[in-house]
Amino acid sequence: MVNNSQHPYIKDGWFREINDKSFPGQAFTMTVDSILYEARSEFQDILIFRNKVYGTVLVLDGIVQCTEFDEFAYQEMITHIAMFAHSNPKRVLIIGGGDGGVLREVAKHSCVEDITMVEIDSSVIELSRKFLPTLSNGAFDDERLDLKLCDGLKFLQDIGASDVHKKFDVIITDSSDPEGPAEAFFQERYFELLKDALNPNGVVIMQSSENFWLNLKYLHDLKNTAKKVFPNTEYCYTMVPTYTSGQLGLIVCSNNANIPLNIAQRKISEQEQGKLKYYNPQIHSSAFVLPTWADKVINE
Ligand code: SAM
Repeated sequence: MVNNSQHPYIKDGWFREINDKSFPGQAFTMTVDSILYEARSEFQDILIFRNKVYGTVLVLDGIVQCTEFDEFAYQEMITHIAMFAHSNPKRVLIIGGGDGGVLREVAKHSCVEDITMVEIDSSVIELSRKFLPTLSNGAFDDERLDLKLCDGLKFLQDIGASDVHKKFDVIITDSSDPEGPAEAFFQERYFELLKDALNPNGVVIMQSSENFWLNLKYLHDLKNTAKKVFPNTEYCYTMVPTYTSGQLGLIVCSNNANIPLNIAQRKISEQEQGKLKYYNPQIHSSAFVLPTWADKVINE
């Protein structure tokens, strides 16, 4: 176990995810068996370490992004809820997602013809490919991929200003949390840009960065911000033990009010299902069913 790290998030061999703004008064901790990488990139603080339960752990600005042990619960749900809520997604945009997990999941869909991924920090991609190779599992070499290294907000602003670009069927915002380079993704202007970039029956999904145990009012407000732009806006969730409280919300939207986002619009083949560990059509629907107290606030 690491005992003498100078890293601000590690004390006495324990990594501590302390976030006084979003999660005051509590913290998730894991032992650090060894540090694989620690440095600051142009955009954020990056830490990668090994833990005996969760395997390799990627941390950005002190917040856990993914671990080898439970990453599929996040990557599969944020990807396949949107991909199956659409009847035939051909063009997909991923904003963020530098670890490659969402790209890996999108690439499993044979109906997809092209994937654009916009990641601000090339070092997250390089380090994830080196230390967490199962996350992308070769998907960065997929010939359908057009990888752009720039700010996702600026990318959307630029394509909005151009009249030649084709629109997307599914847009997945797999960003880090609002503090830092992803701050703009949780605001109304961002949802407007997503709407402009979407085909009429398109579906967008984003991680909400918070959970209903500790941030109920925030989730109510975020859902309503999205709803000002998209007539069809829903909240659903996935369960990931290394995200605070083990529960993480996803906001799903479409311009088309008649698409039931809580129902898979395509039949999943046996072959497709065989590649998945968490997602199935039943959990797609049940992810939208909330406990009574949370439902009253988030969906009021
Ligand atoms: N699953 C994760 C979570 O919710 O904790 C998100 C993982 S992924 C590593 C987040 C990525 O978003 C990072 O690689 C980060 O560099 C990228 N990102 C943050 N702000 C961005 C921006 N403005 N434009 C594009 N990518 C951004």
